[in-house]
Amino acid sequence: MSKTLFERIIDREIEADIVWENERIIAFNDISPQAPTHILIVPKKVISSLNELEEEDRDLIGEMFIVAKNIAEEKGISENGYRTIFNTNDYGGQTVYHLHLHLIGGRKMTWPPG
Ligand code: AMP
Repeated sequence: MSKTLFERIIDREIEADIVWENERIIAFNDISPQAPTHILIVPKKVISSLNELEEEDRDLIGEMFIVAKNIAEEKGISENGYRTIFNTNDYGGQTVYHLHLHLIGGRKMTWPPG
């Protein structure tokens, strides 16, 4: 199967503005930010969407939220607040089929989402 866009970023075949990384997770600025802070937190393991998540991914998903929390603190958006989102499949608005957590902040969000 051909690589997803995010696998190509993980493998350094495509450039991205990387803000944090360890052996399991990479975080980079969204190319089309929807707020002053818009960072994608991406597992290096290939998981196409939340629908494909397995029991064994429990720790990985937990770590992705810890990374989101830490980056939010670093970016100074924790106190005002922010949003963390997984878009899943067509109705969820997913466009890149490699699991990613959006961390969006720096402005007041509206609800419900569009
Ligand atoms: P989603 O629609 O939830 O699948 O989110 C995919 C996100 O990836 C969108 O917010 C895009 O703006 C973002 N995106 C697409 N291409 C790139 C890229 N080359 N570098 C960083 N972010 C990207």
